[in-house]
Amino acid sequence: MTDNAIVYVGLGSNLENPISQIKQAFLALDALPKTHIKKQSALYRSKPMGPQNQPDYMNAVVMLSTYLLPLDLLDMMQAIEHQQGRIRTAQRWGARTLDLDMLLYDQQQLQLPRLILPHPGLYVRDFVLYPLYEITPNLVLPNGKKLVSYLR
Ligand code: AMP
Repeated sequence: MTDNAIVYVGLGSNLENPISQIKQAFLALDALPKTHIKKQSALYRSKPMGPQNQPDYMNAVVMLSTYLLPLDLLDMMQAIEHQQGRIRTAQRWGARTLDLDMLLYDQQQLQLPRLILPHPGLYVRDFVLYPLYEITPNLVLPNGKKLVSYLR
């Protein structure tokens, strides 16, 4: 059997009781096959990106240990979004019950149509950087830079 991977997932919600959406997603991620949560951050509140006529978001980051391959894990993350009532609309950055972003999968760097690793938003979004820092302050990114160097 191959080794487990350490994966960081960013969670966001701003519809239909965001706090319980995030907590439900923690449970769903922990219940995935060959996967469990090793660390989870506190919940953070953030202003929406893009269109401002939507509620504030609640965000968190989890560290997973998994034996799933990246695209299989992505499929299962999208199934969780779907289960929790996520409706994809044409509007970019529109309100949503649940958004799950694969931030890091070990030190992998990928540029597939469906999966970019590390997630391109990781370096620039405070609502990702701070919860990630909370759970892994010494993290070094695949580009060799320390996570802490991106904190403002
Ligand atoms: P979003 O609207 O933010 O949920 O974007 C989802 C789309 O981004 C899907 O089509 C995914 O296949 C794609 N995607 C690319 N890279 C990633 C990633 N690292 N994590 C999650 N979704 C990704």
